[in-house]
Amino acid sequence: MTETEKEYRKYLIEFYKDTFHLHHWTMSPDCINYWELLENTQWESMEQIKQKQLEKLNQLLKYSYKHVPYYKEKFDEHGVVVNNIASFKDLESLPVLGKETIKNSGNGYMLSDKINLEKVLKIRTSGSTGMPLHIYADADQLDWRYAAVLRYWGWTGWEFGDKSIRLWHQKIGMNELEIKKEWIDSYLLGRRYIPVFEMNDKNLMKYILDIIEYKPKMMDGYAEAFEIIADYIKHNNLQDVFVPSIISSAQMLSDKMRAKIEQSLHSEVFDRYGCREFSTVAHECPVHKGYHITAENLIVEILKDGKSVKEGEMGEIVITDLNNYSQPMIRYRIGDLAIKINEKCSCGRGLPLIGKITGRTKGVIQGTNGMFLTTAYFLHYLKDFEEEIRQFQVVQESLDKIKVFIIPERKTGITTKTKETIAINFKEKLGQDMNIDFCITETIEMVKTGKHQAVISNIPFNL
Ligand SMILES: [Zn+2]
Repeated sequence: MTETEKEYRKYLIEFYKDTFHLHHWTMSPDCINYWELLENTQWESMEQIKQKQLEKLNQLLKYSYKHVPYYKEKFDEHGVVVNNIASFKDLESLPVLGKETIKNSGNGYMLSDKINLEKVLKIRTSGSTGMPLHIYADADQLDWRYAAVLRYWGWTGWEFGDKSIRLWHQKIGMNELEIKKEWIDSYLLGRRYIPVFEMNDKNLMKYILDIIEYKPKMMDGYAEAFEIIADYIKHNNLQDVFVPSIISSAQMLSDKMRAKIEQSLHSEVFDRYGCREFSTVAHECPVHKGYHITAENLIVEILKDGKSVKEGEMGEIVITDLNNYSQPMIRYRIGDLAIKINEKCSCGRGLPLIGKITGRTKGVIQGTNGMFLTTAYFLHYLKDFEEEIRQFQVVQESLDKIKVFIIPERKTGITTKTKETIAINFKEKLGQDMNIDFCITETIEMVKTGKHQAVISNIPFNL
């Protein structure tokens, strides 16, 4: 980058910061300062980062004990002495927070007695876990999370001022002023939106032509939406779609999907793990050997039976938000699974890693024999029936009953032999007393957020 270009980008960022109130409503220009901080702290050693996490945690615990009825009660019950957490092992003395607790809690029970409800954002979670709920976040938490977003965009090669396109569901529930502010924000960021709910054959060509014409440096959106675009490009033999970086999120990204997207759009795909409650949780760097945790903002634990798993093992993701003082979220069970990694990344960043997020909890099927099968298993196993199955969805109705919805490739449906083969395999894995129903269908519904989940569990998860 030339000096002039550097100057220009610096000026753009300053302008964005100075006009911040014109394009945002809950957040503050502090997020740009935080972004600058995060750009530096990512290169600190893992030990330094962990030490800072513990300091921030102790501060949060002290505050929560004093100002949040739920934590006062729980810490007393568990004999937790606040300001006394000296290591990550000590974290295990703190209670884990389930979604049910938040959902069932009465007014104020989970909130700080200092909360100003006029100045917080009510965040509704997508409900893809089957349990829609909301939490509150204040400006400071939102500033830190936006700072983390700007940092990870940078990991893909994007720089402030570069054009980008977001493949997402359209904003709903915004008022007129917010819509205008959002428009200004998009303009300043060089950001366009493609509405993901409207992806049909008719619109896809238009979207792809838009991408070709706009030449974004980076695109982000649902993994499956990118897959649809990649398929469309391939089937129509379009050669001119070049998007240097793609950030895929919200869904499992299989190796096959990644390869397909990279090939069709001439891209490098960066997978991201995030959620509505905390925004970006962990993100791939150019090394692609795992996901760097946003450790300045969050503590991420991987647990099984309440204890941290060993390296290489899979466990449940439990998250502590170090910046939310309006509704402290301490050891929150998000409902997803990941593999623990202790290694340092060769990119040089000290931010700890987590391994492949092997299944979202809702995408994990439980056997009567105690076995858990993740989405990846079903994707892998059923791919061999490609000639007969166009699309499938495995839904667990109860501990001993799963339904396999199938859109068949042929009008005649699928053969009895195939059904038998699949049933034998599933019973072998999940227990002989598992009931397996096949339902031949014409459409498979997306869940509310527009996610097309291959595997859905409707029963509580017990790891
Ligand atoms: Zn790295």
